[in-house]
Amino acid sequence: MATDYYAVLGVRRDAGQDEIKKAFRRLARELHPDVNPDPKTQERFKEINAAYEVLSDPQKRQVYDLGGDPLSPNGGAGAGFGAGAAGFGFSDIMDAFFGAASGQRGPRSRTRRGQDAMIRLEITLEEAAFGTTKELQVDTAVTCTTCSGEGAAPGTSAQTCDMCRGKGEVSQVTRSFLGQVMTSRPCPQCQGFGTVVPTPCPECAGDGRVRARRTLTVKIPAGVDNGTRIQLAGEGEVGPGGGPAGDLYVEIAETAHTVFQRRGDDLHCTVTIPMTAASLGTQVPLQTLDGVEEVDIRPGTQSGQSIPLHGRGITHLRGGGRGDLIVHVEVQTPTKLDAEQEELLRRLAVLRGEERPSGQFAPGQQGLFSRLKDAFNGR
Ligand SMILES: [Zn+2]
Ligand SMILES: [Zn+2]
Repeated sequence: MATDYYAVLGVRRDAGQDEIKKAFRRLARELHPDVNPDPKTQERFKEINAAYEVLSDPQKRQVYDLGGDPLSPNGGAGAGFGAGAAGFGFSDIMDAFFGAASGQRGPRSRTRRGQDAMIRLEITLEEAAFGTTKELQVDTAVTCTTCSGEGAAPGTSAQTCDMCRGKGEVSQVTRSFLGQVMTSRPCPQCQGFGTVVPTPCPECAGDGRVRARRTLTVKIPAGVDNGTRIQLAGEGEVGPGGGPAGDLYVEIAETAHTVFQRRGDDLHCTVTIPMTAASLGTQVPLQTLDGVEEVDIRPGTQSGQSIPLHGRGITHLRGGGRGDLIVHVEVQTPTKLDAEQEELLRRLAVLRGEERPSGQFAPGQQGLFSRLKDAFNGR
């Protein structure tokens, strides 16, 4: 998707209309051409106007949330990897909400494209790392089998409306100070369809579709993350009158792992080891996504140091390869010493000339900073 409208306005994805309006007004005051004629600022001004146009309109916002761009002429592409599906046109959505395009003459079709649907799917970190196949229960409108989507009871059929003679609209001549004016409006008897269904299908009450639960098998590619949407073309809601189905979007929700925290395609965890082990070096077993591996703690390891296990993270969604698993070391100072242990440590301090250490002072919190830096650099 080209533009993140939420980011443009600086609001969260679940922001309410009030919040969106406030954010827009604040930015508009700041960036208005009268206030700030700089061309770069003007680009920003156009952006926030576009973002507001979409997010302040519940229908456009829904289209946008489903992965489309309501301001792009073809509705924009859907979530990137939907088997080349072309997304959905904004006009289709508008048709679904408002009926056939305004200005169109003649009866409107009873058949319309169905709406897109969205379902959330929880997966584990392991499933995200390697990909999986899931069975999904989806509840959507499907074509009514009793009437095959026609809406008429079996053995009956739709008939031409006698009020408009099938034209779907009725004309009326009225007098006004400009003279005679002819106006036409949708036929009230057939609601503009041009046909009436005298005996609606008892199964679907004439809608041509019923709700049903289906089981779908969905392939989840390796590397998906929280919020990734997988587009299944034509698996959404069937339209009225047996119209073509919309698309189904499967939104991924990754459950928290007990040991690993995901940042991008890298995984992070902390291992706490006693001071003696940090000084002498040791190996600790770690259950990685690929089985148990020995983490090599080298002699003299400091608290806050990190040990990367290359290629033990999440598979990159595009282009293969894997992120790293980064083990952050936390050195534990021994407490509750018995007499013998204390004696040993005092003896060690004497041997190392550390009975009265002067300490090394530096600005800030070195340990914490280096840890953060390591995390950002993926070390
Ligand atoms: Zn039916
Ligand atoms: Zn009519």
